[in-house]
Amino acid sequence: MFSTMQDVPLTVTRILVHGALAHGKAQVVTWTGDGEPQRRTFHEVGLRSIQLANALHDELGVEEGQVVGSLMWNNCEHLEAYLAVPSMGAVLHTLNLRLPAAQLTWVVNHAADRVIIVNGSLLPLLAPLLPGLKSVEHVVVAGPGDRSVLDGCRATVHDYEELIEGRPVRYPWPVIDERRAAALCYTSGTTGDPKGVAYSHRSIYLHSMQINSVEGFGMSGKEMVLPVVPMFHANAWGTTHSAFMTGASILMPDRFLQPGPLADMIETVRPTVSAAVPTIWQGLLAELDARPRDVSSLREVYIGGAACPPSLMKAFEERHGIRVVHAWGMTELSPLGSVAHPPAGLTAEEEWRYRESQGLFPASVEYRLTSADGELVPLDGTSVGELEVRGPWIAGAYFGGAEGEPFRPEDKFTPDGWLKTGDVGAITEDGFLTLTDRAKDVIKSGGEWISSVELENHLMAHPDVAEAAVVAVPDEKWGERPLATVVLKDGSGIGYEALRAFLSERVAHWQLPERWALIEEVPKTSVGKFDKKVIRRRYADGELEVTQLA
Ligand code: AMP
Repeated sequence: MFSTMQDVPLTVTRILVHGALAHGKAQVVTWTGDGEPQRRTFHEVGLRSIQLANALHDELGVEEGQVVGSLMWNNCEHLEAYLAVPSMGAVLHTLNLRLPAAQLTWVVNHAADRVIIVNGSLLPLLAPLLPGLKSVEHVVVAGPGDRSVLDGCRATVHDYEELIEGRPVRYPWPVIDERRAAALCYTSGTTGDPKGVAYSHRSIYLHSMQINSVEGFGMSGKEMVLPVVPMFHANAWGTTHSAFMTGASILMPDRFLQPGPLADMIETVRPTVSAAVPTIWQGLLAELDARPRDVSSLREVYIGGAACPPSLMKAFEERHGIRVVHAWGMTELSPLGSVAHPPAGLTAEEEWRYRESQGLFPASVEYRLTSADGELVPLDGTSVGELEVRGPWIAGAYFGGAEGEPFRPEDKFTPDGWLKTGDVGAITEDGFLTLTDRAKDVIKSGGEWISSVELENHLMAHPDVAEAAVVAVPDEKWGERPLATVVLKDGSGIGYEALRAFLSERVAHWQLPERWALIEEVPKTSVGKFDKKVIRRRYADGELEVTQLA
């Protein structure tokens, strides 16, 4: 028996129309760095999105299924593109502005972007690439910047405001199959070419509902969200779509992502929720410790994208009254995988065990752990395996490019439809995930696994340590051993012996690193995570000054 329910497609168009009408008074505030932030209501943003859709269609000839790239900071115009492009049946390709030039060129050509909407401040990045961007016919420039760098380029150049001005505020929205692509995001892949994930209207819609739920980020019309996570990193983790769905106002940081301006905008505009990778919060913590601001508006901040050191969570809570919630996700998961809200009925102290973990999966994320030979690993809280997931907002393949077919590399997708995350950890009987490593970062010493994340978390809890990254290095006797690379806080002269003694009170003796090196900064990926492959390469090339303790 089929149900008797209406079969209505779940689309970004619904999010646009609903947000603009039902939450018309909610605001998108974009930080400008000088004086007054730019403020627009959801109603205005909705109308401008419709005007943008009209302009893209009528003036630039964008058709359904074509790809529009965005090379933009987190700001109101980027949100307008988020809403307009998918709603007209085209696909928004968010471009990671920190990718190396060759990769940026590669992804634009692979996806065959016809149009690129770019912030004026990013023109120096785009202009030199343009001759190599084969499919780009139009460049739409939003915001201030020196446009003369585009002189002589093959593409037609438009000004964003001039392009949308006076356009109709109605659009004949196409009826879109909810399984069609709405947005395209390439993983920041540390090896090989970037891989594209094509989110569907349906996956974005369902994921947004989850972000809004209390077991997600608990967003509602009472909140204002500050997405520090870039809109090119897995749709800013769904925060802006979900805000438009529930009427949570949005504070856009634009290009002001340094700790000082972030603290200033929190104090001035008073967001209640925020999300970013740990390195951003580490910087903000240092800033707030040095120059306190009133950040009391922040109810919760969501930290994910990399393991969040518990010491960071506790510092925010104890010193600045901000509750930190740890979450795990991947570009392939839209990105929400799990969120560490503790179960009910525990004391604050007991809650930490759950809050430090990567958290609990929602109903839409099915999970299992497998061993290297493909056997299921028991979910008993201690047995460790590779995490595999499947569900309605999880990629089932990678985008094959404008010309190609979707592809499913064997190391990422199982024949029975699970995504192999490449993350290794344990899951408790009551469903809480604790990750110990990326599969490729695991340290295998004499047949035993050492968690680099655990060692890093302990080291970063030491008052003299600003950052620490632990990697596996070859060892004649044990196969592999941990190398601890450490960034000391300014003025600290602490020695390796003292750091090792600190660790020895917290981990088993055989896990203690013998090899130590001081570095100036932990290298970061294009989305701000620790880039351990660079450290491994520096070690292999003999660039690190390594001290070996007895
Ligand atoms: P990306 O697709 O660039 O967002 O990277 C996804 C990867 O980031 C995951 O597969 C994990 O290795 C890592 N990651 C994300 N969140 C966490 C977390 N809370 N703890 C540990 N690793 C994380």
